[in-house]
Amino acid sequence: MQYVLISSCLLGNPVRYDGRGAAQVDPVLARWRDEGRVIPVCPEVAGGMSVPRPPAEIEAGRRAADVLAGHGRVIAVTGLDVTQPLVQGGHAALALAQRHGIRVAVLKEGSPSCGSGYVYDGHFAGQRQPGVGVTAELLTRAGVRVFSEKQWEEALACLARIETQDVD
Ligand code: SF4
Repeated sequence: MQYVLISSCLLGNPVRYDGRGAAQVDPVLARWRDEGRVIPVCPEVAGGMSVPRPPAEIEAGRRAADVLAGHGRVIAVTGLDVTQPLVQGGHAALALAQRHGIRVAVLKEGSPSCGSGYVYDGHFAGQRQPGVGVTAELLTRAGVRVFSEKQWEEALACLARIETQDVD
């Protein structure tokens, strides 16, 4: 059976920067929970960040790939450089995924760690731009298909294709 990596906040765990969760009610998630497939992860907590914590964004003009290459930073609204814990948490999430042979993840959209379709533009003004978070980038590079909480059906279909193709 394939496990699925899920952002901890999407399961209702109060790990977000504001001390809250982002619980999702979706039949696909309910089914995966019943099947025992769900592996939760909060990369930012895994990287040593506290709850609550100041919101952070990838700095303006940079992408997750730049952060991982050492050419960009992730900055909290307070000005604190949180690049190191974000990257460390991303690697912890990747290691967890690899331990469980995970090939599909559903991560919280918009986060500098977990975003898979958009992130915020680095100006803390609520402006979105296309891009991915640091954890999503690491997982994608390792061959994990990353979806957002708006894409449960797509994630389910992807998982079904993977399981059909698997011979072991
Ligand atoms: Fe949720 Fe990811 Fe942020 Fe953790 S790092 S609170 S799992 S969006």
